Amino acid sequence: MMQAVEVEPKRFCTGSQSWEIRAAVSAFPRLAREFTQGELFCRVDGSMDARGAMRLRVRVEGASMLRCQRCLGDLPHTLAIDHLVVLARDAAELARLEADPDCDVIPLENRLDLVALIEDEVLLGLPLAAMHAEGECSPGDA
Ligand SMILES: [Zn+2]
Repeated sequence: MMQAVEVEPKRFCTGSQSWEIRAAVSAFPRLAREFTQGELFCRVDGSMDARGAMRLRVRVEGASMLRCQRCLGDLPHTLAIDHLVVLARDAAELARLEADPDCDVIPLENRLDLVALIEDEVLLGLPLAAMHAEGECSPGDA
């Protein structure tokens, strides 16, 4: 299992730092429960925008398998996530940014676990009930 990768978000953004990893989905504690197999390439880039807001560009790419909720067989799932996550410095900024549909926003804290951030982004993009298309499988096929 992968260990947490903690960074100081403020320094990560002001210093334009990056972090990347290629790992099996089974190595991510929370993703291991959702996917049966696959490998992910993940990258996080810190930056500042023109107005001085701290942001993280989160990218996750890979081919993996979910478990179909109807037949319990493998269901191919392609990941191609490219999200901008803005770090809000206070409640007012949080409220203002949450109204913007173009970005995700999280409160700025002293420590941020990049592995958990990747997992959050992947889990948010998953279908509520992963299933093959209607008519493509029946319960008990697998
Ligand atoms: Zn199925």
